[in-house]
Amino acid sequence: MRYFPIFLDLCERPCLVVGGGEVAARKAQQLLRAQADLTLVAPGASAEVQALAQQGKVRHEARTFRAQDVNGCALVIAATDDEQVNRDVAAAAKAAQVPVNVVDSPALCSFIMPSVVDRDPVQVAVSTGGASPVLARLLRTKLETLIPASYGRLATVVRELRGRVKQRFPEFRERRRFWENILQGPVAEMLFGGREQAALEALERALENTAPADLKGGEVYLVGGGPGDPDLLTFRALRLMQQADVVLYDRLVSPAIVDLARKDAQRIYVGKRHDSHTVPQSELNEMLVRLAQQGQRVLRLKGGDPFIFGRGGEEIEELAAAGIPFQVVPGITAASGCAAYAGIPLTHRDLSHSCLFVTGHLKDGKLDFNWPALLQPKQTLAIYMGIKGVDVLQQSLLEQGMQPDLPAAIVQQGTTPDQRVHLGSVATLANIVARQEIKPPSMIIIGEVVKLHEKLSWL
Ligand code: SAH
Repeated sequence: MRYFPIFLDLCERPCLVVGGGEVAARKAQQLLRAQADLTLVAPGASAEVQALAQQGKVRHEARTFRAQDVNGCALVIAATDDEQVNRDVAAAAKAAQVPVNVVDSPALCSFIMPSVVDRDPVQVAVSTGGASPVLARLLRTKLETLIPASYGRLATVVRELRGRVKQRFPEFRERRRFWENILQGPVAEMLFGGREQAALEALERALENTAPADLKGGEVYLVGGGPGDPDLLTFRALRLMQQADVVLYDRLVSPAIVDLARKDAQRIYVGKRHDSHTVPQSELNEMLVRLAQQGQRVLRLKGGDPFIFGRGGEEIEELAAAGIPFQVVPGITAASGCAAYAGIPLTHRDLSHSCLFVTGHLKDGKLDFNWPALLQPKQTLAIYMGIKGVDVLQQSLLEQGMQPDLPAAIVQQGTTPDQRVHLGSVATLANIVARQEIKPPSMIIIGEVVKLHEKLSWL
């Protein structure tokens, strides 16, 4: 990080703007919104600056800049069109250790100003670290459309009630839950819809009628995180990730996705490495129950879809038995993610009329398949966990009569920036794995549809 973001309290503190034109006037207005005690130094001044001076909002000193002007200032902005003056201001401020911004000259600045979505008292500041002011502005425009204008009013209402809510719910977690209900529920909606009086009344009622015990219940969200690309999360997954107090995640969930969980949520890694089960399943199931019983909102984040080779069923069975509320959020399973990003349609009107998801995990060194079902013509096979036992897999498929030249692909780290697609046939699968360094996770896809990769690959 090149710049450290902060919000500065400038209320009644001496600040200086050097320059008297339009840009200087705009900077002056920004500082005045923060209630700064503002002096503006410039030999001449625009009508806007003069008006501000006449209204007593700004002290205008009609002269050229002197180095000692910066002394005692909390902040200085240079906005003249004279490069030398701008440089002098920057040098004087830096010598006096006063933060300085020179408009449009990042090299002379000790701080830069963000693009701001202003919903006072809510401020959203966007910076690209000076890389692209246009990008910052575009981002700000996006945020403008996402954050209703009445957010400021909502924040003000919350501020006025904070003390009383704190008294009623002395425990932090209860309080946070109370505010989350308010800020995401009907009260906020009424306020956004302009029904302020109704909103205030509903808030009063909520404060009166909610007992601390109502805010204690734990629950579990079993959430599919998709195959790797964070863009493939569902809206609900993201919302619950922002809400959960604790996140339990696997090896299969990419760091970019874990990063999207609430910043202050506790993160617990419960992944399994090959053969060495870091946390045994039974212990994990118990952990979910225990955390929820402590009143936590627990997010069990799994790779792909929780109900596809994810043991999601086992985990919620225990929750159901313990009477703990839970919900399941589907995710994009590796087969669809890999297929889409590799340009291999899993079904096709001419080439494949069905698709089978199977696991290639060996049990006692063997595969336990319903072979006739596996060998159906015009069918695509999506094989999860098939790399480790690929020799046995290939041999068994051939022994059972699968065409050796049936096209096959191995999609490694599908949907991530490291995705690689290895092409071959049933007879060369083991060879591909032996020859190339295949990194987990990888998915095997077998069927005529694999041929389409050549034409449809788009990544
Ligand atoms: N519940 C998960 C599957 C878990 S089993 C889902 O629905 O996707 C783990 C197997 O999934 C891995 O061995 C691998 O075969 C496959 N897999 C998961 N993510 C993958 C990815 N990004 N690329 C390729 N294969 C993946």
